[in-house]
Amino acid sequence: MPPISSSEILKLNPNRYQGGVGIWGAAPAIYDTTLLPLEHGVHVHARHKDGGKKAIDATYRGVQLLLSKRASDTPAVEISELDAIYFMVGSVFGYEMRFVECTFCKFPHLDKDWFSVHAHRTHLCSGCGKLFRDEVRGIGNPAVKIRSAFDHSHRLQPSQQSCDIRQSDYPGGIQIWGSNPALLWTANRDEEEGIHIHAFDHDGTTFLIDDTYSEVTIDNVRLDPKLVRVMMAQSALPYISGRVMDIFCQTCGTAHFDEGELALTPHNDHCCKSCGAKLRATGRLRKTVANPMYGVLDQLAVLAVREPQRHKPYLLTEI
Ligand SMILES: [Zn+2]
Ligand SMILES: [Zn+2]
Ligand SMILES: [Zn+2]
Ligand SMILES: [Zn+2]
Repeated sequence: MPPISSSEILKLNPNRYQGGVGIWGAAPAIYDTTLLPLEHGVHVHARHKDGGKKAIDATYRGVQLLLSKRASDTPAVEISELDAIYFMVGSVFGYEMRFVECTFCKFPHLDKDWFSVHAHRTHLCSGCGKLFRDEVRGIGNPAVKIRSAFDHSHRLQPSQQSCDIRQSDYPGGIQIWGSNPALLWTANRDEEEGIHIHAFDHDGTTFLIDDTYSEVTIDNVRLDPKLVRVMMAQSALPYISGRVMDIFCQTCGTAHFDEGELALTPHNDHCCKSCGAKLRATGRLRKTVANPMYGVLDQLAVLAVREPQRHKPYLLTEI
């Protein structure tokens, strides 16, 4: 990834937006039939009035947050796109993250890839290159500092909306993401949880849909918010890249879904949760992880307005 230049960093004072600020780590859409460029980074929403129009709705490579009304007295907290993306991964899998600093050079430590989902005590500092030991086992992510600086806890509420659409009605294509808890949410309302959908008109840029739903059916294919969310997080882990696939039971036909540790650990033998039969993936790889979303996306691709985009890897392996 190229280094982040200062023009790619948003300077934001959340206190100036009375309608609330939301910040998320944004991985590319898991399904994308638009012609829009690949987007990943720190996604920011900001509103002047509660429920009003968004004054900011964009993705940046970094965000610098000013922590008080008088910007000069407190240092700003900065988060990069990698901090935000691995914060998303950790929160989807339910891992607690902590602020870890190198004991030698004080560089804030970010655990990426395999390390972002496996707690450990000895970390390799990317500032000075030395191994250092933290007080406890954990997963380091500098974005945690933002949460503690604002001490603004918020609740997640499943979206009350559902959507049932046909891809042919959206010639500009559609994009699908799993929702994930914001790393900063200052609005007074609850954050909505579900599946986030963008759908575009002929010109390819006019939004016909930009919303979060708890139930999504596209061309009669039903999407499960949990599978979507897990797939999105899995796609940000280079160490399992290419190993996550659709595996179904030859005996009873049930699609297999690896959850918890197994969603993060490629394994040889899968056991069907419905009938107990042993399952094995059919490809070349011996160790795999099952997520039925891959099969679901193949089904969606049949009626796609154009071939879904295939994104080049944008994250580096860390093991
Ligand atoms: Zn580490
Ligand atoms: Zn260091
Ligand atoms: Zn079975
Ligand atoms: Zn399995």
